[in-house]
Amino acid sequence: MSNFFNTKIEFLKGVGPMRAELLQKELSIFTYGDLIQHYPFRYLDRTQFYKVSELDESMPYVQVRGRIRGKEVIGEGRKQRLAATLVDENGDQLELVWFKGVKWMEKTLKNHTDYIVFGKPTEFNGRFSMAHPELEELAEEKQTTSFLQPVYNTTEKLKAHRIDSKVIAKMMEHLLKVALPQVQESLSPELIDTYKLMDKRSAYANIHFPETVEKYNAAKFRLKFEELFYIQLRLFRQKVVRKADLKGQVFNQVPTLNEFYKNHMTFDLTGAQKRVVKEIYADLTAGKQMNRLLQGDVGSGKTIVAFITMLIAADNGAQSVLMAPTEILADQHYVGLKAFADRLGINLGKLTGSTKASERKVLHEQLRSGEMKMIVGTHALLEDVVQFQNLGLCIVDEQHRFGVEQRSKLWRKNPRIIPHVLVMTATPIPRTLAMTLYGDLDVSVIDELPAGRKEIVTVHRFDSHRLRVFQFVRDQIKLGRQVYIVYPLIEESEQMENYKDLMDGYESIKRAFPEYQVSMVHGKLKPQDKDYEMQRFVKKETQIMVATTVIEVGVNVPNASVMIIESAERFGLSQLHQLRGRVGRGAEQSYCILMTGYKLSKDSKTRLETMVRTNNGFEIADIDLKLRGPGDLMGTQQSGVLDLLIADLSKDAPILQEARAAAQRVLHQDPQLEKPENANIRRHIQSLSANTINWSRIS
Ligand code: ADP
Ligand code: MG
Repeated sequence: MSNFFNTKIEFLKGVGPMRAELLQKELSIFTYGDLIQHYPFRYLDRTQFYKVSELDESMPYVQVRGRIRGKEVIGEGRKQRLAATLVDENGDQLELVWFKGVKWMEKTLKNHTDYIVFGKPTEFNGRFSMAHPELEELAEEKQTTSFLQPVYNTTEKLKAHRIDSKVIAKMMEHLLKVALPQVQESLSPELIDTYKLMDKRSAYANIHFPETVEKYNAAKFRLKFEELFYIQLRLFRQKVVRKADLKGQVFNQVPTLNEFYKNHMTFDLTGAQKRVVKEIYADLTAGKQMNRLLQGDVGSGKTIVAFITMLIAADNGAQSVLMAPTEILADQHYVGLKAFADRLGINLGKLTGSTKASERKVLHEQLRSGEMKMIVGTHALLEDVVQFQNLGLCIVDEQHRFGVEQRSKLWRKNPRIIPHVLVMTATPIPRTLAMTLYGDLDVSVIDELPAGRKEIVTVHRFDSHRLRVFQFVRDQIKLGRQVYIVYPLIEESEQMENYKDLMDGYESIKRAFPEYQVSMVHGKLKPQDKDYEMQRFVKKETQIMVATTVIEVGVNVPNASVMIIESAERFGLSQLHQLRGRVGRGAEQSYCILMTGYKLSKDSKTRLETMVRTNNGFEIADIDLKLRGPGDLMGTQQSGVLDLLIADLSKDAPILQEARAAAQRVLHQDPQLEKPENANIRRHIQSLSANTINWSRIS
């Protein structure tokens, strides 16, 4: 956008320094450009009202029109609330309730006056009510040109300073008056023509104050398309730059790998594993830096692929690191790979937070000299003292736990030539998201489980069936199996009292199974204690493992065949799927039992039903995306990337695909964007990078 859009918001008519400061603090609106992109999050549609008699509890947010007939403050002190009655044109009543801001609402809400209320209806004893609805007084005389009225996001604080949605709409009117003539087209005529896009000026006008339904839809499509187009364009350009500029070490010798295949592999690779190894090998021999994402459902066998890749590096005189997000997982990788490495005469080490100082010194020394070929560890590997003779390969397991910044620290450990990168994730990322987040990574998928695996049987049981579930546990243990019991604990870093569920659970499990040994692992344990408990379970000294989600990631005990998840309704869908993946790793039939109380929300029910119905990680990820929205799915570290202004990845996959194809085509025809027909695009990119948008948030 041109300089005009960098004008400070305080200079807009009706704003001024005081309001400007509030807008900055509360909504990050600093400039005209920020405000014009503060799109309405919904619209008041004068044609879409429900009658009270049409309401039912499953409805999301609805609009009802009626007259306030009576209001009353009920209760005292903290329990105080305001109740008002809204009567619609049929004479049916809807109760409105406020628990907060009671005094203020009492003052502002006008009796015997017509309002539009917007909120979620709930039913109690056949009567409907709405808590904290949004309100708009229905003034007869007020007629806007727009058939849809914009409703803008505000905050409590803004409202307290009388900056509500209507005030923002007023500001927007002022802004559009001065700003629309300044708007420059940011897409090329060719794209506008091909995709039948509305021009940018009309799009801004109609997204805020739609003239007709058609124009509103066209405006929305245009702005979503543009947003996604520029994300994709940027990713592709990065990829092109990377491909062109970044040389990679060539790894074309494989003697040890051949020996490993011939003499030490205890199983055959699955077809999918073979395909992925080929894809990786092609990268490693191409002379370019590999930058690859390996997706594979839990239990699909990513570790062996990682090891094979590390072997190839070692065969060509390069060192490799395998970084895991937790100590437990690093240990497990280490134990598994150490056995192979020893037999092949390869020096493989482990470095985690709990590695002793004396051992560290040796490790650091051996890494610097090149004597140590492979190292497995946690983020302790990122410390500056860890230096390599020739780091040639970085593998990051379960990458969503690491921030982008953290990861790039690894790459920089080879100042001479950037190492090859393999990122492995067991969180199947829906295609739409993968395209947006990892447009610059090549993607490999292991979509096949090793032969002989039995599909995990998943059931949902209510807490009242606990005795039967426990009997089942006993039967399984008698068959020689082991059992996980997981308790919810969302925040690992939180206070000890949050462990109450787990501790209570642990005690009751010990009481219920006096004849068996019970381990317990959680995030507050010291690493060595955690390790000790884990090892007891691995060695079958204990039959039951009580744990929090620390066992969610990667842990591999093939003899464990039962996963019980307590308060399963409190877990996200992807997390449930990850936990379930801890069983079903051996040849035995495995089970996942989801325990809940009777009271379940609609979303909880959907999550449980999905788990019972399918084992397919990609299907689960798609449903999770729909339920939660993309920001949540990836964890906070990456949500920055997904701060989309108008597009919605859970709904706009088709637009994303078109925008992606368009970006690809534009760059294919004009890699440097220097042709005259792409002048608009070039100018827009320049203004984007001149602005504060921090594109480096994407790795
Ligand atoms: P994940 O992809 O979840 O990290 P792992 O690499 O831990 O899965 O593999 C899960 C289990 O499957 C391990 O015990 C591993 O040895 C085993 N495994 C991997 N590949 C195969 C295969 N091709 N055939 C049989 N077992 C395999
Ligand atoms: Mg794994």
